Amino acid sequence: MKAPVKSSGSSSRVASTAPSRAAAPSASSGGDLFVLLAEHTHEQVSFYYDEACGYRGIIAIHDTRLGPALGGTRFWNYHDDRAALVDALRLSRGMTYKAAVAGLNLGGGKSVILGDNRITRREAIFRAHGRHVESLGGRYITAEDVGTSTADMEFIRAETEHVTGLLGKSGDPSPVTAYGVYRGIKACARVRYGSDDLSRKVVAVQGCGHVGYSLIKLLHEDGARLIVTDIDPQRVKSVVEDFAATAVATDAIYAQQANIFAPCALGAIINDDTLPQLKVDIVAGAANNQLAEDRHGQELESQGILYAPDYVINGGGLINVNAELHGWTLERARNKAGEIYDSILRVFDIAREERIPSYLAADRLAEERITMVAKVRQNFV
Ligand code: NAD
Repeated sequence: MKAPVKSSGSSSRVASTAPSRAAAPSASSGGDLFVLLAEHTHEQVSFYYDEACGYRGIIAIHDTRLGPALGGTRFWNYHDDRAALVDALRLSRGMTYKAAVAGLNLGGGKSVILGDNRITRREAIFRAHGRHVESLGGRYITAEDVGTSTADMEFIRAETEHVTGLLGKSGDPSPVTAYGVYRGIKACARVRYGSDDLSRKVVAVQGCGHVGYSLIKLLHEDGARLIVTDIDPQRVKSVVEDFAATAVATDAIYAQQANIFAPCALGAIINDDTLPQLKVDIVAGAANNQLAEDRHGQELESQGILYAPDYVINGGGLINVNAELHGWTLERARNKAGEIYDSILRVFDIAREERIPSYLAADRLAEERITMVAKVRQNFV
């Protein structure tokens, strides 16, 4: 028989730290923790400590109105417990929006395990995490993230079914992500140039890794001219040889005279240093959290640069995870990622109608869908 879960925070929703959407608690009514939850209307946070193996984990569930909360497990040595909680809250909220705009029936969640992710004795930690996930009864589904691997997911799977990204299942999501980014770039071209034809367009790609390589291939097949960079010379060499790309130094990529800049490496690359260098019409790429700060989204707008919000255009990775959950074929996952084209067009429509920058319009699109589905499901059937 399994030992009872040594949990604090919450396990069942009824007894959870769940703030009402209507009445957010104030610092005096719920204390600091509830204020943090109320800030972005998180539904639930669960803490679990396993004394035997030293597991310390937090699972944050942001929103389940579209379906079970999905989001990876991050294994990280946080400065303190509060930093870990804030990271889980921030990342889980991001997952809600990403799933919503991707048209998936998934909510947003994320978990963090506190500790050194280089440890070699991983089974106990990840089985404890699996028990934590299991205690939430399917409200949260986990997957890989920073500091975890498919082998870790197998340990979790020994304790719960609510895990994806297993060995031999959906595999590397990058080709599906790249296809979604490619479709998103075409949608941007349609808005900017009146046609989504990419032949003879110049695309500057930062990062020739898993997503970058596949994206460069698709763009090359469409007749685009490619300027590329990477800190790894081997990766640059491959795309120069395979797709006749032109290589530039890493810090030269921002100032290229190109139509499109496709960030496929790091976050926060749209910032005070890089913005004045950009000479492109469009920024559209796979990297997460491209804007160093929200105001940089506004500044792109002021410079007349069309920005494809990152979490909309790179949703193919999540679509691939969803495909594994529901047993979809690769073709179906790819077709779903292809719909990113329409989502990007819709984002720009909202931006125009509401006179807001595209990064805010993306949030509106997500919120629209969540509200619509929640309304449809409000009656007892
Ligand atoms: P990757 O690690 O395979 O590729 C990243 C590449 O960027 C590497 O080749 C690396 O050498 C290069 N790089 C790092 N720093 C650089 C710098 N300063 N200048 C130029 N190149 C640099 O990662 P990936 O899976 O291709 O993901 C790329 C980006 O897309 C990441 O931000 C990731 O979070 C995001 N993303 C990926 C997926 C996916 O399915 N893989 C899904 C959604 C978002």
